[in-house]
Amino acid sequence: MSELTNYQMLVDGDWVDAGDGATFESINPTTGEAWARIPAATEQDVDRAVRAAHRAFSEGPWANMLPSQRGKLLRNLGDLLADKSEDLGRTECVDTGKMFKETRWQAKYIAEFFHFYAGLADKVTGDTLPIDKPDMMAMTTREPLGVIAAVVPWNSQLFLVAVKIGPALAAGNTVVLKASEHASAAMLEFGRLIEEAGFPPGVVNIVCGFGEPCGRTLTTHPLVARISFTGGPETARHIVRNSAENFAEVSLELGGKSPVVVFEDANLESAVNGSMASIFGASGQSCVAGSRIYLHEKIHDKFLADLTSRAQKIVIGDPLAEETQMGPLCTLGQLNACETQVAKAIEQGGTVHHGGRQPAHLNAGWFYEPTIVECPDQKMEIVDSEMFGPVLSVLRFKEEDEVIAKANDTKYGLASGIFTADIGRALRVQKQIRAGIVWINTYRVVSPIAEFGGFKDSGYGRESGAQAIYDYTRPKTIWINTSPEPMGNPFVMR
Ligand code: NAD
Repeated sequence: MSELTNYQMLVDGDWVDAGDGATFESINPTTGEAWARIPAATEQDVDRAVRAAHRAFSEGPWANMLPSQRGKLLRNLGDLLADKSEDLGRTECVDTGKMFKETRWQAKYIAEFFHFYAGLADKVTGDTLPIDKPDMMAMTTREPLGVIAAVVPWNSQLFLVAVKIGPALAAGNTVVLKASEHASAAMLEFGRLIEEAGFPPGVVNIVCGFGEPCGRTLTTHPLVARISFTGGPETARHIVRNSAENFAEVSLELGGKSPVVVFEDANLESAVNGSMASIFGASGQSCVAGSRIYLHEKIHDKFLADLTSRAQKIVIGDPLAEETQMGPLCTLGQLNACETQVAKAIEQGGTVHHGGRQPAHLNAGWFYEPTIVECPDQKMEIVDSEMFGPVLSVLRFKEEDEVIAKANDTKYGLASGIFTADIGRALRVQKQIRAGIVWINTYRVVSPIAEFGGFKDSGYGRESGAQAIYDYTRPKTIWINTSPEPMGNPFVMR
C-alpha cells in the first residue's frame, strides 16, 4: 500500500492537527483502500475555530472591510478556483469516486458562484419606510448575522461550499465549515485558496470529523448565529434539535426521490438522455437524482427498451480515465443500500431490466451497475427510498391527474422533470408538482442565478440566487426624530 497523504485543518489562519492528534482514514472508493489521513477535531478544536470566526467577525480587518472590498476577495477566490480546477477536480475524484471529467469541470464552473456573490456584495440595501408618525423617519439596514456553521455531505463538496460561503462572506459573516467524514480532502485543499485570495485569518475555518463530537459541537455552539446544513433528513433532525441550544437560524438542503414524467408526445431521444443524466450521472449520487420515472403507457415499452439498451453500454470503471462514464459509489454503505433495496424490490414483484449487482470485473472498489427496476406498484419500498446510487424505479401511467398524484406521493419534494412537447401541459403539471425545482425537457441544470432547494422532507431555505445573500443578513430598524421640539412627556398619550 502506498503512503497516505496527510491533511490538516484550517483554524484561525493556521493549518493544524487535532488537539489530541486523532485522525481517521479517507478511502478511495475505486480501490477500497485508504489514501489519506484526516484530523478528527475534538470539542476544543471546534470551539477554537468558532471563537476565531467570532473574533474575526467582531474585530480586525474583516469587521471594518467595505462591502466592495469583500467582493474583491471573493472574486480573487473564484479566479484561483478556476485556475486550480484540474488539481481540485483530481483530488475530489480520488476521494469520492466521481468522474474526473465532471469534478474538474464542476470546479471550474463553481468559480461563477463566487463571481456572482462577489458582484452582489455591495448591492445589499435596506429601505426607508413610509412611517405613520409625524416628525419621524425610519429606515432599515441589513446586518450580517455573525458566525455561520456550514455542514456539508461528501458529494459536490466544492459546489456546496460555494453556495454557502459565497453569500455568507459577501454579506460580511465569518464561517466555520465542517467537511464530511467520507471526503474532506478537496475542501481542505480549497482552504489554501482562501488564504491566497487574501481573506484575513479566522474569516473561514475548516474542521473535520464525524457528527459526534465535531458536528454536534459546532451546531450547538453558543456563538453560532446560523446553521447552513446539507445532508440527509435524519441528520437534519439532530441539527434542528441542536439549534434549540443556540437559537441559530437554520436552513436545510436534504435528500430527494425526484420524479421524472415522460408524456406520450415527448421527444423520446431527449427524454432518454434526460433520464440517463438524472439517474446515472454521478452514479446516481446526487440529491436531485431522478430516481423514479413515470412513463405514459403508449411509450412505456419502447422507452424502457431504449433506456435499457443505453444503460447496457455505459462504461463503468476508473473515474480518472477519460473514457469512463460511471465511477464507483462513494461509500460501502451506499453499495449495501442499493443491494438491499433492489433485492426487496424483486421480492415485492419488481423486474430488473439491467444491472442489480456489482460488475464482475470491478469487485475491488464500490462499483454498482446502472440498474433499471420496473415497479408494478407505487407502494413498493424502492419507490420512496433515497439510495444515493444508480437505481431507477420505472412506473407506468395513463392519465395526467394520476401521474401528478403519483409524483407527489412521497415524503420528499426536491426536484422533478417533465418531458412533453405540449407547453400548456408542461406548465399545468409543473404548477401541481410539490417540488422546489421543475426541469421541463431538461434535467440537472444549476446556476448561481437560480434558487435551489426543496419542500417537505427535502428541507427549507434556498441556496443560490440573489435572495440567498439576504438570508445571511437581518434587518436593523433605525428611528430618527426630526422634530425641532424636545421629546414629549412619555405619560401623555398623543
Ligand atoms: P449526512 O446527513 O450523513 O452527513 C452530512 C454532514 O452532517 C456530514 O458532515 C456529517 O458529519 C454531519 N453530521 C452527522 N451527524 C451530525 C450531528 N449530529 N450534528 C451535526 N452534524 C452532523 O449526509 P451524507 O450521507 O454524507 O450525504 C448524503 C445526503 O445528503 C443525501 O440524503 C443527499 O440527498 C443529501 N444532499 C442534499 C443536497 C441538497 O442540496 N439538497 C445536496 C447534496 C446531498
